[in-house]
Amino acid sequence: MKILVINCGSSSLKYQLMNMDDESVICKGLVERIGIEGSKLTHKVEGRENFVVEEAMKNHKDAMKHVFDALVSKEHGVVASLDEIDGIGHRVLHGGDIITDSTLVTEDVKKTIEKFICFGPLHNPANLMGIEACEELVKGKPNVVVMDTAFHQTMPAKNYMYAIDYDLYEKYRLRKYGFHGTSHKYIAHRMAEILNKDLSELNIINCHLGNGSSLACIKNGKVYDTSMGVTPLEGLVMGTRSGDIDPTVVTFLCENENITPHEANQWLNKKSGVLGVSKLSSDFRDLEEARDKGNEKAGLALDMFTNRVKKYIGAYMAQMPELDAIVMTGGIGENSDTMRREILHGLEHLGIELDDKKNDGTRAKEVNIAKDGAKIKIYICPTNEELMIARDTKEIISK
Ligand code: ADP
Repeated sequence: MKILVINCGSSSLKYQLMNMDDESVICKGLVERIGIEGSKLTHKVEGRENFVVEEAMKNHKDAMKHVFDALVSKEHGVVASLDEIDGIGHRVLHGGDIITDSTLVTEDVKKTIEKFICFGPLHNPANLMGIEACEELVKGKPNVVVMDTAFHQTMPAKNYMYAIDYDLYEKYRLRKYGFHGTSHKYIAHRMAEILNKDLSELNIINCHLGNGSSLACIKNGKVYDTSMGVTPLEGLVMGTRSGDIDPTVVTFLCENENITPHEANQWLNKKSGVLGVSKLSSDFRDLEEARDKGNEKAGLALDMFTNRVKKYIGAYMAQMPELDAIVMTGGIGENSDTMRREILHGLEHLGIELDDKKNDGTRAKEVNIAKDGAKIKIYICPTNEELMIARDTKEIISK
């Protein structure tokens, strides 16, 4: 069975075609700068040179057309015809409290994704365009949505409610939803395998640290708490997002910078985080390098990032009876030994003892980097959201 996985961002589209008989990747690729000058598709097949298309792609449908052409291309393709694709799985950001699990696309599902554009203004419209493009371009194939929020549905109300007027919660469904759910779910399942435990007995804190970052407190295999909120803005200090902030900052900015609420939101999402503080970059490699050369703002931004993660680890440990492991994943968690060290040092009194020798230089492999005999394990575990999306899609279309 072949499943195509689609992940549409506001101006990008990532795809991966998977053979679900052995869960191998047939090909993957990326379209960048959709609707912007300089659109580019890069199609990658293991063992072959990348195939690149640089042509104007004015929307996600244009981009999808180029992806399908690449898949069946005589020279660069991987299938003889699109008929070989059994189903398409779409990563979707927000379905509010209505779409709470992976499901087949129907008109109602699309209406719900549209309804929650208010909580996912960048992602939900792009997700919807990706779905509609697939429906039009390969007629009759089942499309499945896999929600970024789904794995967090098990949070208790005391963790997902905001302490605002209850009527506002009921009127707008304003609550914490949490994101990166597909990644947190993959890690939970994988860690249960690695630790040889039943998922229902697994207690971990998963740190998904990338451009966007979130922590999940996974108790008895289920999410008990997570750091992102009604949108992916809440929680950790991120590449360009502020994370937790006193809401007064927003009203203050609107009044004193003479900007609209929408502009304030853009400011907190796009020009804040480590980029905003460092005034330099949202990329942690740039910031680590700048700090090494004496850039104090880059140092401050990194300190704020690592300290926020540390505080959330503490908050989540306080909600767990016992902890099997802290897990590091995402671009930063998997690759940056420096960030891992700065987050985890100083937590020894809690049983978290990083072994610097195991940590330093280790990238993107499944390994325990805690000291031998330490109470709590510390794992690096590369995430695989595409595989989770493909698995859910396979399961749903097989029913
Ligand atoms: P996204 O949230 O876009 O999926 P990723 O999980 O791919 O992001 O993470 C991207 C981030 O990972 C980059 O912005 C970069 O800062 C960070 N990163 C990747 N490799 C390293 C590294 N070796 N050292 C430090 N940071 C890294």
